[in-house]
Amino acid sequence: MITENNKTCAVIGCGVSGMGAAIRMRNKGYKVTVFEANAFPGGKLSTESKDGYRFDMGPSVFTMPQYVNELFEISGKNPAEHFRYTQLDPVYKYFFEDGTTLESYHGKEKFAEQMAAGTNDSKEDILQYLNRTETIYNLTNEVFLKNSLHRLKNFFTWPVVRGILNFGKIGAFDTMNGANSKAFKDSRLVKIFNRYSTYNGSSPYLSPATLNVIAHVEIVKGAYYPEGGMFGITDALVKLARDIGVQFKFSTPVKEILIENKKVTGVRTDNGTEAFDVVISNMDVYNSYKKLMPNVKRPAKTLDQAKSSSGIIFYWGINKEFKELGLHNILYAENYEEEFDTIFSKKAIYHDPTIYVNITSKHTPTDAPPGCENWFAFINVPNNQGQDWDAFINEARENMIRKVNRILKTDIRPFIASEMVFDPRIIESRTSSAFGAIYGNSSNNKFAAFLRHANFSKDIKNLYFCGGSVHPGPSIPLCLLSAKITTDLIR
Ligand SMILES: Cc1cc2nc3c(=O)[nH]c(=O)nc-3n(C[C@H](O)[C@H](O)[C@H](O)COP(=O)(O)OP(=O)(O)OC[C@H]3O[C@@H](n4cnc5c(N)ncnc54)[C@H](O)[C@@H]3O)c2cc1C
Repeated sequence: MITENNKTCAVIGCGVSGMGAAIRMRNKGYKVTVFEANAFPGGKLSTESKDGYRFDMGPSVFTMPQYVNELFEISGKNPAEHFRYTQLDPVYKYFFEDGTTLESYHGKEKFAEQMAAGTNDSKEDILQYLNRTETIYNLTNEVFLKNSLHRLKNFFTWPVVRGILNFGKIGAFDTMNGANSKAFKDSRLVKIFNRYSTYNGSSPYLSPATLNVIAHVEIVKGAYYPEGGMFGITDALVKLARDIGVQFKFSTPVKEILIENKKVTGVRTDNGTEAFDVVISNMDVYNSYKKLMPNVKRPAKTLDQAKSSSGIIFYWGINKEFKELGLHNILYAENYEEEFDTIFSKKAIYHDPTIYVNITSKHTPTDAPPGCENWFAFINVPNNQGQDWDAFINEARENMIRKVNRILKTDIRPFIASEMVFDPRIIESRTSSAFGAIYGNSSNNKFAAFLRHANFSKDIKNLYFCGGSVHPGPSIPLCLLSAKITTDLIR
């Protein structure tokens, strides 16, 4: 039962974090309105259909479902009645140019056993590595993910003090690749663990080994598949928000955050101005300053950090079934270091890219016509610095088809019955992400966690920020934690 407090809150953006923040604010008794520029909810977590094929347009790997469940629980509902998902095992199929295929399984023991059977590293070495990533998780989870890093009082808690005392153990002084190359003899395992840097759009050759924690989250905590695909998350959260009384205004971009005497007073849209006591921006923070409050002094050091990578995604309707593929498939570049150097230094696309193919019709057959598959074929690319993306798309299509054909020993070209494509320009225009970067600031330096924007404005009262471009960072679980940290700051 919600106790009304007669205060109002505007949430700018219906991304997963915006939805989380709206549900949490409504539960605090605020009258909440979500303004969304698009005609549809979800931001990056959205869906499209074409020629009988349905696609999740953005995220495909779902971890830490408890943060979705929590939104139902605080709303007095049983999550299992509204949001269902299954645990994946195996999670990934990894394909290499030397013809080998490896599978990743859930849980330390099974993962280590299976990987040891297919590589030159021992089960003991793999287990030891996974234990180290677990230690990183235990030391960093409370410190970096669950609290604001921008409130002094949060540094005087036991988990933070323990984290600081054990700083040497969290890998802050090595790179991911440095730590992984020391841990494994087999270059395939190094690649498998290095790839987790791409979960926040960074290079394993630059980002701190602390990010090896992501492997722990996926392998040990588990990866899941929501009923109805990833859009099932958006669908469930919009229904929940509506059910508890959150109002949505779609196709209504906010044009300005109204501020008087350093205090938020409301928002302006094409329909006029509306007064609000609190404003939470789920719009990328770089563009929140640039477009919605150009007269407010911007925190340049934070906002001008290098941005993450982006992606070129082909949404292919394939009129054939490939039994050798699973839900999540990775086809690795031969020279991973050169690929990341091309993306982050040369700001170009790589001729032999690592390709991620996600096929939800393996789990939800209705996502493709009978006998067909919906391929989400993704490569990492630089963010938008004005490159010739039309040329890059044509080049990427050829590179990707060539690589898939080589590894699967087939010719997929005649089976591509339908195509949609996203590039950084589209990601930018569809979600307002600065430079089309998928994950906000990159984590290509060891201070990155401290250089994300806070969840509140230091200068403007009652103005807050949530989502992948602010603390604690990108991905569905972190965006939901961002919503929690933000709304917990609002007493
Ligand atoms: C291709 C791709 C693959 C990914 N893979 C994964 C994955 O496997 N697992 C995972 O966990 N994460 C993944 N991510 C990252 C994850 O999708 C994001 O971190 C997360 O969805 C970002 O959510 P958000 O709340 O920050 O907002 P966004 O999704 O960025 O949404 C922001 C919303 O705000 C709206 N908006 C912006 N400006 C305004 C305005 N002025 N007025 C009104 N509305 C406005 C936009 O239209 C948009 O709907 C992936 C992302 C992409 C693009």
